[in-house]
Amino acid sequence: MNGTAELWVIFIGTMLFTAVLLATKRSCGCGDPPPPLSPEESQRAALAALEPPVAKVAAAAAAAAALPRFPYAHQGRASETVVCAICLEALRDGEACSEVPACRHVFHGDCVAAWARSKGSCPLCRAKIAPGSGGGGAAAAVAPDDMV
Ligand SMILES: [Zn+2]
Ligand SMILES: [Zn+2]
Repeated sequence: MNGTAELWVIFIGTMLFTAVLLATKRSCGCGDPPPPLSPEESQRAALAALEPPVAKVAAAAAAAAALPRFPYAHQGRASETVVCAICLEALRDGEACSEVPACRHVFHGDCVAAWARSKGSCPLCRAKIAPGSGGGGAAAAVAPDDMV
């Protein structure tokens, strides 16, 4: 008996709370102009406008995902370390790496795949990550990213 009564109180309380919430919202939005975008939101909108077309990025991301991965093997002198320019961590033997075919720069496979989701060019030399497309026009193709 007691437990059921308590449940009802909670239920009715919740309903009242929801009703009050809805009423306040409605009275606020009625007639008033919509609130301006918060700085965070407008910044996000500006960033979205700056981003390269989705199709281009998607192609680069797909290309980066398709790059062959290989376990990194240290070559040359022992004092030489190759650093992944994306995460700034040294490449270690056996880590999964990918090479940008256009410039042969080597990064972590995961890093270059994530990078290609926002940029379609090598972070070191701006060669196109997507192989094949463009050919000689690589320089012209990477320019717009830097103009912004
Ligand atoms: Zn990395
Ligand atoms: Zn490069």
